[in-house]
Amino acid sequence: MTQQQFVIVGGGLAGATAAEQLRESGFDGQIHLFAAEGHNPYIRPPLSKGYLAGGEGRDSIFVHPESWYREHEIVLATGQTATVLGDHTLTLDSGREIPFDRLLLATGATPRRLDLPGSDTGGIHYLRTVEDSESLRAELEPGGRNIVFVGAGWIGLELAAAAHTFGNTVTVVGPESVPLAGPLGEELGTMFQRLHESQGVTFRLNTKVTGFEEAQGRVAAAVTDSDAIPADLVVVGIGAIPNTALAESAGLEVDNGILVDAHLATSAPDVFAAGDVANAYHPVVRQRMRNEHWANAIAGGKVAARAMLGEDAVLDDIPYFYTDQYDLGMEYSGYPPLTKDAHIVYRGDRDKREFVAFWVASGRVVAGMNVNVWDVNDQVQDLIRSGRSVDEHQLSDTSVALDAL
Ligand SMILES: Cc1cc2nc3c(=O)[nH]c(=O)nc-3n(C[C@H](O)[C@H](O)[C@H](O)COP(=O)(O)OP(=O)(O)OC[C@H]3O[C@@H](n4cnc5c(N)ncnc54)[C@H](O)[C@@H]3O)c2cc1C
Repeated sequence: MTQQQFVIVGGGLAGATAAEQLRESGFDGQIHLFAAEGHNPYIRPPLSKGYLAGGEGRDSIFVHPESWYREHEIVLATGQTATVLGDHTLTLDSGREIPFDRLLLATGATPRRLDLPGSDTGGIHYLRTVEDSESLRAELEPGGRNIVFVGAGWIGLELAAAAHTFGNTVTVVGPESVPLAGPLGEELGTMFQRLHESQGVTFRLNTKVTGFEEAQGRVAAAVTDSDAIPADLVVVGIGAIPNTALAESAGLEVDNGILVDAHLATSAPDVFAAGDVANAYHPVVRQRMRNEHWANAIAGGKVAARAMLGEDAVLDDIPYFYTDQYDLGMEYSGYPPLTKDAHIVYRGDRDKREFVAFWVASGRVVAGMNVNVWDVNDQVQDLIRSGRSVDEHQLSDTSVALDAL
């Protein structure tokens, strides 16, 4: 048995996956996992989807059952925040010091907050934690309220769908002219906008929120650059900021996340980073990318664990994420930086919202999004990974099997 001690900071999906991979790879030393939240590691996507909708208990969101940590001899300490990262020593907010041989930073991200007149008033919500989701559900569930969403990104739109489904009147406000145009382009962003509009959601685009009116300690309206939108509740989804304070105070290289190489090694010896907090060099795209996605937390947790064990592990997965809104489910795989010079080839029925969109650059597929078409993600990823040139007519022809291209 090795006497080595590995420490994981951050009890989210990346941290929990790394602990699992360490044991799967045969590491028999000590593993300490420190989690600032008072819960065992859990997954966040359901917080804006099924868990928010209700009906699922907290047990449904945990990465592992309670017993798993004991069975795998992982020393899990919840409600403990790491405050100082020194040379092979970590200090917790309790003052306790823990020596380590290798350490993983998996500290995740925190919602970006508004700093506007009235933005501290009651009834303005953010969503990151299970408590946030539960308090939001309590506010949305009665229905019949005016709800303003600040931000027309993925989380804002998923929440808008949930709020509408509970029977509330929903307005989405954002400075862009088309929601999701950044990641998807205008045509597909417009498809998401129309989907919401068909359900009765109102969009106020090209519009900035400048503050909030309050009545009896609670928000009463979201003030924009042109008017005030009545609001019983406001939900803000304007992105997240990586939790880099610990890394920064230790002098690690940080720039939009903790800078790591393709093995997820930071600039400090024996310190690694994975998940939302890591800005990792991707060997295919040949630039750094910080991915705030569930699949990246899993893949990164695994690669970091193997790299901590000295293996030649590299994070070269194709970025992947998914969303569910009303009856639309989609999966996206691809390299966003490579879609800048790409055009889109469609396959399937766009009017029925059952299709695959391929981003094609220089004759090769660099990204793909399947909308209400299932069991094709592996083939889409295979096309992207292979880098082989494709015939666009065949790509758009549903009678040609994707794996025959
Ligand atoms: C509402 C919501 C919906 C989402 N939906 C999707 C989706 O549909 N599809 C998708 O692909 N992705 C989705 N995501 C993103 C996905 O959940 C994240 O990419 C994933 O949670 C990242 O995991 P992580 O372990 O890196 O970070 P986190 O899950 O944020 O975990 C990090 C943990 O570290 C803790 N921590 C921070 N600092 C310290 C410290 N100093 N000491 C100890 N602990 C610390 C934090 O409290 C946190 O618990 C969603 C995210 C949210 C919030």
